[in-house]
Amino acid sequence: MTAMPSRRDVLTAAAAACLPGLARAGAQTRPPFDLLIAGGRVIGPGSRPEGVMLDVAIRDGRIARIATGIPRADAASVIDAAGRIVTAGLVDLHAHIDAEMPPAHCLSTGVTTLVDGGTYGAANVETGLALANAAPNRVRLLLNLGRTGLNGLGAVGELLDIANADVGAARAAVEAHRDRIVGIKVRLSKNAAGANDLEAVRRARQITAPLGLTVMAHIGQSVSPLPAILDAMGPGDIITHVYAPAPNGILDANGRVLPEVRAARQRGVLFDIGNGRTAHITWDIAERALAQDFPPDTISSDLTAPGRTDRVFDFPTVLSKFLLLGMPLPQVIACGTARAAAAIPAFTGLGTLAVGAEADVAVFELREGDFEFVDNERTVRRGRQKLVPSAVVAGGRRM
Ligand SMILES: [Zn+2]
Repeated sequence: MTAMPSRRDVLTAAAAACLPGLARAGAQTRPPFDLLIAGGRVIGPGSRPEGVMLDVAIRDGRIARIATGIPRADAASVIDAAGRIVTAGLVDLHAHIDAEMPPAHCLSTGVTTLVDGGTYGAANVETGLALANAAPNRVRLLLNLGRTGLNGLGAVGELLDIANADVGAARAAVEAHRDRIVGIKVRLSKNAAGANDLEAVRRARQITAPLGLTVMAHIGQSVSPLPAILDAMGPGDIITHVYAPAPNGILDANGRVLPEVRAARQRGVLFDIGNGRTAHITWDIAERALAQDFPPDTISSDLTAPGRTDRVFDFPTVLSKFLLLGMPLPQVIACGTARAAAAIPAFTGLGTLAVGAEADVAVFELREGDFEFVDNERTVRRGRQKLVPSAVVAGGRRM
């Protein structure tokens, strides 16, 4: 509990403010750093060999210094990160925001940057923009190619009627909101797009390619075979739900990663997780792909309001699943920070703790124990480690 200042303290402060000499002395004693995150295990660009604990110093909203032994007295406030993991603020490339899933909820779990994956289309983009503008963290939108996004048609897939994929309306929305919209989302599963999957990618690229923006395509259970979808994607475009179960996932009938999938990665198509709740990831597909050296480029949550209590929970929980699957901690963190930031041109310079970078920082406890994780089919796997958020700093401010 913070004690309220007494009337006498307030009067004394007011009197001091009238004395120029004292006021100047106050300004001179501003410590070198605004915030110090002290003594944690820093993971990511700027980190040191395991076992070296580092102090991360922040000034004016930027990472100012990373070193050992920065005096605590040099900072206006201190977060004690002893025994904790310190990373760049998480970058979740695929979540869904609305009134029940506000961006602030994601921020509380370490997500300083998030992308809404097509909740909104040209007809209702203002709703998504209002949420983004009011958010305490950085929120950008992938505009759904379908005019009504996910919210306008009830249970009906937004691309089942290709007339709903209105290129003119989507392009106008993107051009009017270049500061908030970072690309186009298309959902290509049969229940969302029917036989329109390839045409949807073609139309999405008509919008993104001239502007240097990104297409994110949701795959799994599509009408068209995945190699045909990949053929339509360009370098830098993102496949989400990379470990979606058949039909038309990344594996052939014998469980082998398709050569066309590896070829697409070779030419720059990115493969993202998008955990979600149904038909997006199973342990079986993930394990087969990882065993064949096909890890994800990026990890994302596909978190929705119902996902907060079912199968997703939060982004750190999704990241922890990949520790259980055997990916090394630094690689898991990179997939949710630096590599995720690198996937979106507007995020250049984010996802890192390099000196000079925006001071978005997350602090986690890497809790040891016996933890239950589930895939989309509610199959249980038990893990020994779980990332549990303990502090978050956005733009240099502790949230
Ligand atoms: Zn999604």
